[in-house]
Parts: sequence; C-alpha cells; structure tokens
Amino acid sequence: MKSINKSIILNTIRVHSPISRSEIAKKTSLTPPTVTNIVAELIKSKIVREFDVGVSSGGRKPILLTINERDLFIVGIDVGDKSVRASLTNLNAKNLFKMEVSMPYPLTNQVLLETLHQIAEQIIILNKIERSKVLGIGIGMHGIVDYKNGVAIFAPNFNLKNIPIKSYIENHMEIPVYVENDARALALGETWFGKGQGIENLICINIGVGIGAGIIYNNELFRGEYNIAGEFGHMIIDLNGKLCSCGSYGCLQTVAGGGVLTEKVVNGLKLGRKTLIIEKLNGNMENITGELIHQCALQGDEYSIKILAETGRYIGVGVTNLINLINPARIIIGGGVSKSDEFILGPIREVVQQRALTEEARNTEIVKSELGEDGTVIGAVTLVLKDIFSTMVSAR
Ligand SMILES: [Zn+2]
Repeated sequence: MKSINKSIILNTIRVHSPISRSEIAKKTSLTPPTVTNIVAELIKSKIVREFDVGVSSGGRKPILLTINERDLFIVGIDVGDKSVRASLTNLNAKNLFKMEVSMPYPLTNQVLLETLHQIAEQIIILNKIERSKVLGIGIGMHGIVDYKNGVAIFAPNFNLKNIPIKSYIENHMEIPVYVENDARALALGETWFGKGQGIENLICINIGVGIGAGIIYNNELFRGEYNIAGEFGHMIIDLNGKLCSCGSYGCLQTVAGGGVLTEKVVNGLKLGRKTLIIEKLNGNMENITGELIHQCALQGDEYSIKILAETGRYIGVGVTNLINLINPARIIIGGGVSKSDEFILGPIREVVQQRALTEEARNTEIVKSELGEDGTVIGAVTLVLKDIFSTMVSAR
C-alpha cells in the first residue's frame, strides 16, 4: 500500500505544487503521519523539496512542497531525419540546455547508436553534471519502436532495422534509457505539459516527413499488440494509390505529409506552374522545403496556399477515419507541417465537419500543438518522468 501512496503523493505535489503537507493529506485522504513519512523519503531522494516561503506577516505559514527542479536532471533526444536535437531539462521538463547535431550520413546501426551515445555524453559533460544526477535519457524515434526493449524495430526513413538503442546506451552510460516512437512520445508530452492535460481520450498527430499518431486511450498510451498502433501515415486511403515506403499502396503518407509536399511542388514547377516559390529557389530545386512553401503562402502565393490546403484535406480524410474509429475528445496536430497551421487546420476541420459520423464527432476539437519544435524532446523527457512517477507504484 505504501508504494501506491508514494506515487499518489508525488503526483499530487506535481499537479498542485506548491502545496503543504496538510493540503496533500486533505486531497489524498491519507493520514497526516503517512504524508509526513512519505514526504520525508521523497525529500531524501531529492525528488521533492521544501519551497522557500517568503517572510510571513503574522501567523506561521505552512511549509510548502514542490518538485525539486534544482538537483536532478533528464536528457531528452529527438532523432530527426536531418539532425538530432537534445535537451537537458529539470524534473519539470523545463529546458536548461539545448543542442542540435547534423545526422551523419550514410547511416548504419552502429553509426546511429554511437551518434546518440555521444550526444548524451556531450550534454552531460558540457553542463558539468554528475552522472548520478541524471535520472534518465528519453529518446523519440520515428518508425516502429519496441518500447519495452528499447529497440527501433524498423526506421524507414533511415532504412535501418533492429537498432538496440536502450541496451547500447545503458551499457555505455549506466543511466536508464527509454525509447519510444516519436508521435507517441509527443502525445505523452502533450498529456503532461501541453494541450492534452486532463483529457482521457486523445490523439496527437505528428506531421513531419512522415505522419504518425500517438493515441491516449483511457489515460494510457496505446501501443497495440505489436507496437504499430498509431501508424496513421500508413492508413490506406486510396486503393489504386502510389507505392509507399512501407511497401503498400495508397497510404496517407503518399498523398500528405512533408515529403510529398515538397515532391508535389517539384512536379508542379516542372509543369510550369506560376508561383512565388520559383523566385526564392535560386535555381536549386533542393531549396524547396515545407518552410519555404509556408513562407510563400504567408505572402499570398496562391499555388502554395492551394498545395497546403490539399495536404490539409487529405489529412482531414485520415482524421475523420480516426475520429470514427477511436472517438477522441481532442486531436492535437504537431510536427513540422503543423507550422503551416493557418493553411491546413481549416481544410482538416472542413472535411471532418462534412464527413464524421455524428454531430458531436463532426465538432471534435482539432488544435495545434503548442509545445512547438521541442514537442518531441519534451515528450522524450516525459517518458523518463512517467517512469519515475509511476515506478513508485511498482518498484518500492
Ligand atoms: Zn505505407
């Protein structure tokens, strides 16, 4: 019983911080001595600290407790296509230090493992932190990830398989490592620190080069039987569609997502479409990025606006399918393409309004993630936090 109480108290402090011992007792219905004992243990392990209360004017103020954001740290890593972003944060997921390293191509399993290992080492060395103060390293990775074993089973963008990320870094660093699919990590980050707080059924869609989704179902991250739950980009929406990177045809990712967006523009230019994009290219097709298309759309370029709206409509079709299948209270859109939210959210909502099954479903909230570029990193940090805050239940 005591261990469950520990988790309850820790989470109460996290959510209601700063809070006094007597308030905790009231909120949790635990006895004051139980609260006092467990809080003493949490303070000793440095996860919780007493909050500095200002000088009281008359009457003794109770000592308040808060999560200790000073002495313990977490490393969060977002493994992107072009670069790896990493952050050192405190126990409130607040960023203390950031770094970004270009992905060294050509990649092999060994090159990727060593890159991730070195980044984790560097961030600790550069910040002059004792290893024992880093509670964990969280890693968000695209593709199919076996969370339990920390193995990236299939990373299609790198064309790599069975990368033993957790065991490799743990063996070298002796710090617990948590690896999760990036969209799932993002969804978890949203439920702790973003727009998913307090929502039981939620879908978080990550639109980058590919498209993934993290499903929170009855307050828990849903992984499915073989870790593929949420592979939204491979929802088949066109029976006669194009070949996808997964080997199937007509997946959502073959008509929407960042990769296709730039491909469509390249083809459009070859067909002689008039667009502002041409002027900004400096003659190099490789300069076509989602960001450039967004900039041109902001300047009123009709072609860019049209291409983004088309992306939005396709995603809207997929989102409608998700709503009919899972019926979430809210859908959060994150990832690179979501930066163009003013051009894609409208079309997504329009399709859902036209096609979802019931009046309530048609009005499902669809919002943009506010965690921004750091969303996946924050999600990766949350993987560690979730374990710290819940192993209290099972491990002790
Ligand atoms: Zn596919």
